[in-house]
Amino acid sequence: MNVRREEILRELGLTPLWRSRASVAATLPANERHTNVVAPVGADDRRAQILRMDWPQLKVSVAGCTACPLHQTRTHTVFGVGDENADWLLVGEGPGAEEDAKGEPFVGPAGQLLDNMLAAIKLKRGQNVYIANVVKCRPPDNRNPEHEETQQCESYLARQIELIKPRLIVVLGKVAAQNLLHTDATVASLRGKLHQYQGIPLIVTYHPAYLLRSLSDKSKAWQDLCLATTTMQALQSAK
Ligand code: URA
Repeated sequence: MNVRREEILRELGLTPLWRSRASVAATLPANERHTNVVAPVGADDRRAQILRMDWPQLKVSVAGCTACPLHQTRTHTVFGVGDENADWLLVGEGPGAEEDAKGEPFVGPAGQLLDNMLAAIKLKRGQNVYIANVVKCRPPDNRNPEHEETQQCESYLARQIELIKPRLIVVLGKVAAQNLLHTDATVASLRGKLHQYQGIPLIVTYHPAYLLRSLSDKSKAWQDLCLATTTMQALQSAK
């Protein structure tokens, strides 16, 4: 890491400093890298296996996942979408009805607003942006995912983040914020500051579905997007 980058990260309050990690998979012996066969395992072993997967293995594993009861009611798993080397990672809560039907995140009304929010900061789904959710299967009746469900899905998102290596994570709404930051705090108290996930800068804002109901908080979401943009500019200039 060069000195200028260190200085900028320090100014942003992002210490201890963010170091890029070699992919876990790349450290494995060649004969272990391409195995798609996942034997039944305990929770720790399952997590360790997931954290060694490459993209194709991860996609196959999510598509066939039966680790929590959400698989019983899903139509499609919703893995995530976008640029697998993106600087920007947006994380929502979990698929709704339209996402479940299509297998893609944020394609309903909240997704339309999310696309508009991205356009407002000159970003586009799929172009240097990746969109994922905390849980990959739809919770019935659009309820919040339960603890066991987020726990079972946690290593999938963790591995997606390791593989993408985003410069910045923008977290959409309470469920995603609480899961990534391991806190019970509200979005109102978490927004407006820089946090970190595994050393990666993280900004919390309101969920687009919430913003569709609470127009008065849209201006705060705009402030959050401005904070995200200036943070990204600083991170990119620290290359
Ligand atoms: N809400 C989310 O949090 N994620 C989606 O993919 C759709 C709606």
